[in-house]
Amino acid sequence: MDELKKEMLKTLPKIDEVLLILEKQNIYVLTPREIVKETCRKVVQDLRDKIVNARKNISTESCPDATAVACEVEKSIKGLYRYSLRRVVNATGVILHTNLGRAPLCPEALQRIMEVGSSYSNLEFDLAKGERGQRYDHVSSLICALTGAEDALIVNNNAAAVLLVLNTLAEKKEAIVSRGELIEIGGEFRIPEIMKKSASKIREVGTTNRTRLGDYEKAVNDKTGLIMKVHTSNFRIVGFTEEADIESLVALGKSRGIPVMDDLGSGCLIDLNLYGLQHEPTVRETLATGIDVVTFSGDKLLGGPQTGIIVGKKEVLAKIKKNPLNRALRIDKFTLAALEATLMHYLNPAQAVKKLRALKALTESVVDVKKRAEKLITKLQKENFDSLKFSIREDFAAAGGGSLPTQQISTILVAIKNKKMSASKMEEKLRKIEVPVIARVDKDEILLDLRTIAEDEFTFIIEGLKQVNT
Ligand SMILES: *Cc1c(COP(=O)(O)O)cnc(C)c1O
Repeated sequence: MDELKKEMLKTLPKIDEVLLILEKQNIYVLTPREIVKETCRKVVQDLRDKIVNARKNISTESCPDATAVACEVEKSIKGLYRYSLRRVVNATGVILHTNLGRAPLCPEALQRIMEVGSSYSNLEFDLAKGERGQRYDHVSSLICALTGAEDALIVNNNAAAVLLVLNTLAEKKEAIVSRGELIEIGGEFRIPEIMKKSASKIREVGTTNRTRLGDYEKAVNDKTGLIMKVHTSNFRIVGFTEEADIESLVALGKSRGIPVMDDLGSGCLIDLNLYGLQHEPTVRETLATGIDVVTFSGDKLLGGPQTGIIVGKKEVLAKIKKNPLNRALRIDKFTLAALEATLMHYLNPAQAVKKLRALKALTESVVDVKKRAEKLITKLQKENFDSLKFSIREDFAAAGGGSLPTQQISTILVAIKNKKMSASKMEEKLRKIEVPVIARVDKDEILLDLRTIAEDEFTFIIEGLKQVNT
């Protein structure tokens, strides 16, 4: 280390010195001593690291004194009192945006969370018998009614559902899967890796674009534990393709005594064709093939809380329920409460697409989206933003969340041009305000997609633009 760096490290303020300043400012009235001390140590350590790792010589003037460090510590502690997980306005047009929390919950789900969470509940208590019950029982009848399944089991998310099914049915055995279905979902979820962790061995068959029934037939042997199908939910292979249909895989499984599963992913409960969208296989349709197990997410097209739902044949589900891993992957009471309320809407599918925000955003007519865009523009123009220019634009939104990858969903954007600020600067500023507005940038404009913006969020956009422009 060079001399200058050594010199600078020596001039760094002592922790006690900084603590003394903070004590005089009565910091301990609000914050426990340990936290102040620890933060202090961290801030000084960061300064040390910065000096040690600096590539070029930094000037001695850039070395802060005790007062400046105390200020930094105070700022860092203030950050602890600010919620990190907050609501945002999703202006991206990506309806099931995994980074923005996927599906927003319906009011009934939130009401149920409040009720069940703020008191004791019959979570694992059978009120009729007065004895211990199972938490899944609260939603299994509803799920079976809505999908035609014999039984249902809920875990933390769909990745957990896949892991649990594989581990139960194919531990130390082979699971046969097509090469065209060895997918990555994102966020480190890759089918081959999850299979490895489940202690089952992948038996790949076919090719990327073509896999036939015969490929599966040839691969079956006495070590086969499972035939697995994975819905390619976030991409499509088009052109010279072929895959074995579920019916013939089910027939193969039956004749050889091997269970068959389908990782359906998005978990659609309604016929999207009715709303002018591409067909997405529904859970009911998939189960009607006689398949043993189907897994899907609760917070994708279903539009509810984060869960993994496992449905299928009673005997197979009984085995899965007994797996000790199930205990490690179990869902909490809030999720269960929200899931039950979400599922109940599906008893009236026409209502479900109105009440569940993700489904509503997906199926809403572009005419209605446009009306909302015009309303927003009218409101914005009343505010007399001198440097802003607003216009309306047509574009396409996306389902997101690994669903309907090729579906183009017509949408309407409000484009904003700022005479005094670049679009990327404005995007950054809108992202850092109290209720962040997450928008897209296109050249010198920022774009707000009205398909994912609700009318009651207009005030956040208007307030946000005011803050950004002052
Ligand atoms: C999304 C998806 C998963 C992962 O589900 P999570 O609920 O995000 O854990 C697994 N498989 C498929 C086919 C998916 O689409």
